[in-house]
Amino acid sequence: MTQHFDFLAIGAGSGGIASANRAARLGKKAAVIEAKAIGGTCVNVGCVPKKAMWYAGQIADALHYAPDYGFNAPLKSFDWQKLIANREAYIKRIHAAYERGFASNGVTVIEGFGKFINKNTVEVNGQRYTADHICIATGGKPSIPNIEGAEFGIDSDGFFALEQQPKSAAVIGAGYIAVELAGVLHALGSETHLLVRKEKPLRSFDTMLTDTLVEQMAKHGPTLHCHSTPKRIEKNGDLFTIHLENGNTIGPVETVIWAIGRTPATENLALDAAEVATNEHGYIPTDKYQNTNVKGIYAVGDNTGRVQLTPVAVAAGRRLCERIFNNKPYEHLDYTNIATVVFSHPVIGTIGLTEQEAIETYGEEQVKVYNSQFTALYQAMTEEYRDPTRMKLVCVGKEEKIVGIHSIGFGSDELLQGFSVAMKMGATKADFDNTVAIHPTSAEEFVTMT
Ligand code: FAD
Ligand code: NDP
Repeated sequence: MTQHFDFLAIGAGSGGIASANRAARLGKKAAVIEAKAIGGTCVNVGCVPKKAMWYAGQIADALHYAPDYGFNAPLKSFDWQKLIANREAYIKRIHAAYERGFASNGVTVIEGFGKFINKNTVEVNGQRYTADHICIATGGKPSIPNIEGAEFGIDSDGFFALEQQPKSAAVIGAGYIAVELAGVLHALGSETHLLVRKEKPLRSFDTMLTDTLVEQMAKHGPTLHCHSTPKRIEKNGDLFTIHLENGNTIGPVETVIWAIGRTPATENLALDAAEVATNEHGYIPTDKYQNTNVKGIYAVGDNTGRVQLTPVAVAAGRRLCERIFNNKPYEHLDYTNIATVVFSHPVIGTIGLTEQEAIETYGEEQVKVYNSQFTALYQAMTEEYRDPTRMKLVCVGKEEKIVGIHSIGFGSDELLQGFSVAMKMGATKADFDNTVAIHPTSAEEFVTMT
């Protein structure tokens, strides 16, 4: 018998879980369909395991600083398997918490791969489900290039499945994932190469951030190879050599990791059966209310081609349900000024316009930039690791409205959230100056810049 729901989310990742729970809490009969693991990319092969690995890297860094703080604590060993086991046990606890949440909200969980039959029917393992409202929240998957030997590389999912720490690795790509995974592997002691095809990684970020990142990589590693586009990968026994378009080779290395972007998971959903349109890259275009081209079918999260971040998928899904079930016809997510952190070494926090974007948008004469460079006290105590923290405020107009906040260095991850609230509220430089600093912190630099 066909089961009917008010709201059906396809995919129990960040967007699907948040929307189904919100629908249920608003008194609707809601369900999620999940083909793999509850929690989706973020919980299983994304933010959560990545952050655990990043923290491991932070602890490895702290061990370098320890002697300057008076600790004589020689590192006896590092147990990769123990780290992975504890990380996966934590993820299991998150699964259990989600299941408790579904149970208490009354959300039905349907296990299996969902496919559209028509505009209001989805089939899972031969069983049909209908719904008044269907939200496609299927996320994405790593892209792999079409070159000889590409299959010898693993992707970010493969990185999280590694049972042994590779002695050497080449990470290929120039975005968040490449920078983060290369930073983690290097911090944990793998000989790590980061291959970017253009002049630097994270090209869309403010130049101050990327210049500092590149400078720090040159000082501490990983080894950055710019203008390095792989042409083919050669396997020799258990090792791999990367042959580049420019004739050079990198390696041999134990592990090659592709981190060249992600592809939306939309191709096997039978979207045609529901007449849902996709663009040439497979993304599902939506309007600002997350409506697809078909009434009653919505899309949220990574498969829409907008900002690919967990809190974005969550916020879009929750607002969608507020709109359709809570009498808020204009509720939608504002996709502008979304704060983001790259868990690189050193860590980056950024929101709003880069200096260049501000100049292009408002004209050079309208833009005033404040910069600060200092050594965080945490590192100032050390001999070898007195690395710069750099911060930038991008302001526009006579009132110096803040349109960009950028920070790289110790603590940049945790300090940005509060500042992003201020910026979203329209704060000016004078508002920042009127705020008494918290001392001694790195964050205080943002309210004391001249
Ligand atoms: P997903 O979380 O990918 O969930 C989609 C779910 O749908 C999956 O569980 C999938 O199995 C399921 N599914 C797909 N098709 C079907 C189907 N037909 N039937 C049933 N189920 C289906 N973001 C941050 O904000 N901070 C970070 O630090 C961060 N780190 C990241 C690190 C890595 C390595 C990666 C890969 C991503 C990271 N992200 C981070 C991005 C974040 O994970 C995504 O933006 C977020 O998970 C998107 O949520 P979603 O709901 O759109 O999709
Ligand atoms: P990104 O889109 O961030 O970066 C991929 C980059 O790889 C491209 O921008 C491009 O940079 C380069 N590239 C593309 N194709 C090739 C190729 N064939 N060979 C070599 N390099 C190539 O993708 P990611 O996979 O890193 O991450 C996906 C998304 O997940 C991110 O955009 C982010 O939204 C999210 N994420 C968020 C995190 C966080 O919040 N901390 C962490 C991880 C992921 P170029 O043009 O400069 O060469």
